[in-house]
Amino acid sequence: MRRVALALGVLLLALVVALGAGVALTPSRQPVVPPASEQVDVEAMTQHLAEAIRFRTVSAARAEDVNREALDGLIAWMEQTYPRTHDQLIREVVGGHSLLFTWRGADPSLPPILLMSHMDVVPVENEAEWTHPPFDGVIADGALWGRGAMDDKVGVVGILEAVEGLIAEGFTPQRTVYLSFGHDEETLGEGSLAAAALLRERGVRLSWVLDEGMVITDGIIAGLSAPAALIGVSERGYLSVRIEAADAGGHSSMPPPTTAAGRVARAVARLEAEPFPAGLDGPASALFAWLAPEMRQPLRTVFSNLWLFRPVVLSQLTQKPSTNALVRTTQAVTMLSGSLQDNVLPQSAWAVVNLRLHPRDDQASALARLAEVIDDPTITLSPYPSGLNGEPSPIAGDVGSPGFDSIAGAIRALRPDVLVAPGLTIGATDARRFIDLADDIYRFMPLQLTEPERAAIHGTDERVKLENLALFPAFYRQVIRRGAGA
Ligand SMILES: [Zn+2]
Repeated sequence: MRRVALALGVLLLALVVALGAGVALTPSRQPVVPPASEQVDVEAMTQHLAEAIRFRTVSAARAEDVNREALDGLIAWMEQTYPRTHDQLIREVVGGHSLLFTWRGADPSLPPILLMSHMDVVPVENEAEWTHPPFDGVIADGALWGRGAMDDKVGVVGILEAVEGLIAEGFTPQRTVYLSFGHDEETLGEGSLAAAALLRERGVRLSWVLDEGMVITDGIIAGLSAPAALIGVSERGYLSVRIEAADAGGHSSMPPPTTAAGRVARAVARLEAEPFPAGLDGPASALFAWLAPEMRQPLRTVFSNLWLFRPVVLSQLTQKPSTNALVRTTQAVTMLSGSLQDNVLPQSAWAVVNLRLHPRDDQASALARLAEVIDDPTITLSPYPSGLNGEPSPIAGDVGSPGFDSIAGAIRALRPDVLVAPGLTIGATDARRFIDLADDIYRFMPLQLTEPERAAIHGTDERVKLENLALFPAFYRQVIRRGAGA
């Protein structure tokens, strides 16, 4: 009995030592940079964003439905509001109403950088539900309210304020800086496709790209006392798949044991019962390697010892849709169709499953897996045409890569209280169009959001805190200085 107790004691001690070593061996990865401050005009940033919100640049599913008047208005407003930018940079209108600005660098031998944002906004479901009208740009209760306040006119105005300010103080970039503002990011993405095509045609090779996509999370990640800026180093791929069954059809009074509709339903049920495998590799493992040393106990010990706690952590992450999306390819059945009448057997029945591909999967492997899980030779699978279909993006470099160092350095210099970490962007961004043109692509803007604030993106009462607005021009100034300065 004593021996067993002793053996247990030794084992326990070994475990405590191992866990302690795990913690000790994961020192902080936070970049140490000298603090910086930028002279920004917060009042101008706020007023200009309010003005930009007043143009109803609502995206449309079809190119002919684009609100040209609103876009032309916004573009003309930019010319008036940012005269130095329009004087010093070359502006080209591409893909209808998208803008590509070129700010020539002093040294043309250096590969350029590209900053992106978009001018269109998603529609408003019900204007009456809004506390303040969505297109009035109302400043109230410490916030600026309106569609586009977060997604993504704040990015357009923030970048333009930064460039205008830098020109005013006599700054010239060493390497060329491009600015790309899409007019249909939320739907067709043709504007940024056209901008990418133009750069490709000119043989431009970019060092790195910064687009929207991730934010400064505030109280969202468990175990962290500080806000965390997640810099998207990759984004998930996209694949919609049509699941189809065919039959002879006929009258439903004398049916066969199963119908095409029934087989499609069974296929859908099998898929939902067997989600794609989850794992902590790739961007998720990088994220936790960066954040674990900053966590409170006991989570610090847990995340520093994934050799032991991996199954527990994974099961926790897969409980919530937002973290589940970080660790696996997700599948959502979105469309379903059978016979057109209640007493007619369907000749064809089909469903569409929308997959968002984790970087460990690709379109071909995902399709093969669907076939395996559905396990029914009478079902055919084919890609459902969508302009968004695409492979997961390559994973951009973190520390030591010029783009990551510029972005992380800008954040840490301006906000030493904010942690940085590489992350995986869950949605799709326009930056995908530039994958073949750039060494690295990052997705981040300095929006600091709590969980309820994040919910207002694309929702009711979209707004940005006034105290957050100063960070936008300051951040983009620092990014340009670090990324394209001397
Ligand atoms: Zn957006």
